[in-house]
Amino acid sequence: MRITVDDALAAWRDTVSTFMAEDIGVEYCRERYQNRAYPHALYDAVVQNGWIGTAIPEAYGGQGGDQVELAVLLEALGTYGYDFSMPVLTTATVCDLVLEFGTDDQKERFLPDVVAGDRRFSIGVTEPETGSDAASIRTRAEPTDAGYVVTGEKIYQSGAHAPGNAIGCYVRTDPDAGREGLSVLLIPNDFDGVEITKLPLVTRKAVGTAQVFFDDVVVPEDHRVGAEGDGWRLLEYHLIREHTHIAAAMVGNAQTAVDTALEHATERERFGRAVADFQAIGHRLADLQTEVDAARLLVYRSASRLDTDGGSRRLAAQAKLKAGEVLEEASSAGMQVLGGAGFFPENDMERYWREGKSATVAGATSEIQRSVISAAMRDQA
Ligand SMILES: Cc1cc2nc3c(=O)[nH]c(=O)nc-3n(C[C@H](O)[C@H](O)[C@H](O)COP(=O)(O)OP(=O)(O)OC[C@H]3O[C@@H](n4cnc5c(N)ncnc54)[C@H](O)[C@@H]3O)c2cc1C
Repeated sequence: MRITVDDALAAWRDTVSTFMAEDIGVEYCRERYQNRAYPHALYDAVVQNGWIGTAIPEAYGGQGGDQVELAVLLEALGTYGYDFSMPVLTTATVCDLVLEFGTDDQKERFLPDVVAGDRRFSIGVTEPETGSDAASIRTRAEPTDAGYVVTGEKIYQSGAHAPGNAIGCYVRTDPDAGREGLSVLLIPNDFDGVEITKLPLVTRKAVGTAQVFFDDVVVPEDHRVGAEGDGWRLLEYHLIREHTHIAAAMVGNAQTAVDTALEHATERERFGRAVADFQAIGHRLADLQTEVDAARLLVYRSASRLDTDGGSRRLAAQAKLKAGEVLEEASSAGMQVLGGAGFFPENDMERYWREGKSATVAGATSEIQRSVISAAMRDQA
């Protein structure tokens, strides 16, 4: 299990951390977030550096790296808000699905375009009436001679509106078959009948989330990934990856929340001494750093398992649960440590706080993760 950092991985970590700190910078992320503006320059730079294909095999133009290397990239991209990792994260997650379940033709058609920056992916699971209960997805894909005719809607679709985006969309191909009636279609956002409305959420303000309506959208059969009716199996494979990926980005964000609080507490003086010198504050920061380090270990353990034996649903759920709750806790404590200063957007903590509130919901709630973990514990007992 690869949870030690060798020289190559340390160099990769340095490269992507320096990129975020120096080439992108906190000011860029602050500006994008405040103006609800998509981080095009960040995504384009990731493509230009060749990093969008970190875990895509060289045969399709990627770097042929592993999931640990991808986690390192996502952790760095989450530094100034895990929002900023989302386009790379969702693209990588759907590419993993195409690599595992797609046909050779689909790999040839979609993956080199991803590497070139002409195609990206978002994740289409949640619907207004089906969030945690994904098995009850209603968006209907009726098989016809012309392909699938898709009707329905998805909600909270992160980055679905981005240029060149296709939604890795979970749809119902058989209305009477429960979990066995689900399938996955790649639906480009410029297909006729796709309508997208951005949502004014208090969080994810840069990349944005959207409501997506499908009105008799004709999707060719060769856009289906995996067999018809195999969507639930694909979703289980997908979630192990998505949860590991999102946990990596959340850890990056949580670390910055702690660093920002520490910096403020070190510089701010009250009663003739640094605020960090008060034991109540110093111990709080020590606890938070310990929690962030624990979350990071879970992330890299889960990513290592993906590389060695396909991963563990329990471990991925633990990583996402811990990282999400740590980000929520660290950013909330960070607001307290900054005092009134925390409430100004230019001091960044309010952005981490907004992101922290969504960290225990987006991608699967903490309650659902606890249920997954406890079921896995019982299975193993
Ligand atoms: C910022 C943001 C970005 C998102 N991005 C995406 C995206 O890109 N793609 C996508 O498909 N979705 C996305 N989502 C949706 C997200 O995954 C869902 O919001 C989440 O899965 C919860 O679904 P829900 O909102 O319908 O809540 P519900 O399922 O209605 O849950 C409401 C509450 O009930 C609890 N609950 C439900 N069932 C149980 C149970 N069995 N046991 C205990 N408690 C339970 C939940 O934990 C929660 O507290 C995003 C959400 C947010 C907030």
